[in-house]
Amino acid sequence: MHKRIVFIVLDGLGDEYIPQLKGTPLEYVSKELININKLVSRGLCGLLAPVSVGIPPSSDTAHLSMFGYDLAVEYPGRGVFEAYGEGLELKEGEVAFRFNLETVEKKGNHLIIRDRRAGRIEDPIAEKLIEDFKRVLKEHDLPVEIHHTVEHRGTLILKPRDGKLSPKISDMDPHEVGQPVLQSEPYEETPENELENAKRTADLINRIVRLSYEFLNDHELNKQRIAEGKPPGNIIVPRGAGMKTKLRSFSEKWGVKAAFVAGGPLYKGVARLIGMHEIPVPGATGKVKTNLKGKVEGVLKALDEGYDFVFLHIKGTDTLSHDKKSLEKAQFIKKIDEHLEPLTELKDIVIGLTGDHSTSSLQGKHIGLPVPILFYTDIGGRPSGAKAFSEHNCAKYNNIGVIRGPDVMPLLMDLAGRMNEFGLRPSPKRVLYIGAFGRPLSL
Ligand code: ZN
Ligand code: ZN
Repeated sequence: MHKRIVFIVLDGLGDEYIPQLKGTPLEYVSKELININKLVSRGLCGLLAPVSVGIPPSSDTAHLSMFGYDLAVEYPGRGVFEAYGEGLELKEGEVAFRFNLETVEKKGNHLIIRDRRAGRIEDPIAEKLIEDFKRVLKEHDLPVEIHHTVEHRGTLILKPRDGKLSPKISDMDPHEVGQPVLQSEPYEETPENELENAKRTADLINRIVRLSYEFLNDHELNKQRIAEGKPPGNIIVPRGAGMKTKLRSFSEKWGVKAAFVAGGPLYKGVARLIGMHEIPVPGATGKVKTNLKGKVEGVLKALDEGYDFVFLHIKGTDTLSHDKKSLEKAQFIKKIDEHLEPLTELKDIVIGLTGDHSTSSLQGKHIGLPVPILFYTDIGGRPSGAKAFSEHNCAKYNNIGVIRGPDVMPLLMDLAGRMNEFGLRPSPKRVLYIGAFGRPLSL
């Protein structure tokens, strides 16, 4: 009997000790979680280091790692996922970036970052700023496509025109407030034959970012924001240059028919690029005000339609940690919990619930501490004895160890009765799951 699998990721779920809460946001609210506690009390629990203990993962690397992809060889760069999340198709030779609309202050010849999200600039303002900047790029006849996505986020695609491009260039975003916007440069280890392409790409992106500051800093909407005491979105700062690569599909890797429910563009991009089927949910925004009820209904719909692996992503937990809103994060976790009831009533099911990394509500950034994780199944499994789900309890009642990203899928698959015994080879293909059988012997 192969059970179906639901894998829930509450982005940036783990956290640090917050003095006002006398614990992490999850610990603060853990005793009140009705449905998640139902899952953990029947399930295994432990701690997850999506990349490695002490390494703060980005969301895309964490997800790829948990889905069983080898980051050293299969990670195409964040820009690629952002572009696919926006429904954009990358063509051969194009380089995609994720960018933020940020607030910078001119100091001498440099631009110092004051707010990496321009006060989480509102969608209509950000949209208008980027639309107007498009005109400037056109006037300068630059081979680039630019799109606003959600709040301060956007995607930028460079197109090869005056020679080939390369994604082997450094980020312009130092990821730290108080630091200057960086000049993009070729990676130190760029092969000789790609160096010129990398230089060309870096020169182009540096030029675009200079232009963005010159134009956006004088923009009427930004002057208005300053007058209202809000930080202006006066520059675009790109990072995560990437080029399209061929990733083995998730279904091929794990032998499941997979679907996903997500609101944030990055997560849609990751899931789309590995070939998961999208279950669209109206009002699933990737923001704190999202349609949680609709998202859970989307999971049930996917299971009804015959998908045997469903990935559900909820972003708000991470966003609130970046904004250092620890109490709101705790309240949001409780709100998510209230919507999970229908999942706890499913039969022949395995449910995994975790975060893709810890995000500190004290520091407002991703940290390398492991994340609590639970593996529930309605029949079998191995109850850990934990009565409530939290960082503390997943350490105290840990019955799986500190696992890494690549352990997540095998554990889910094994609980679902879908893993082959290691060493068996019933197919010429090298796969870990049951079901990839070779041709039958003919008489
Ligand atoms: Zn994340
Ligand atoms: Zn984050």
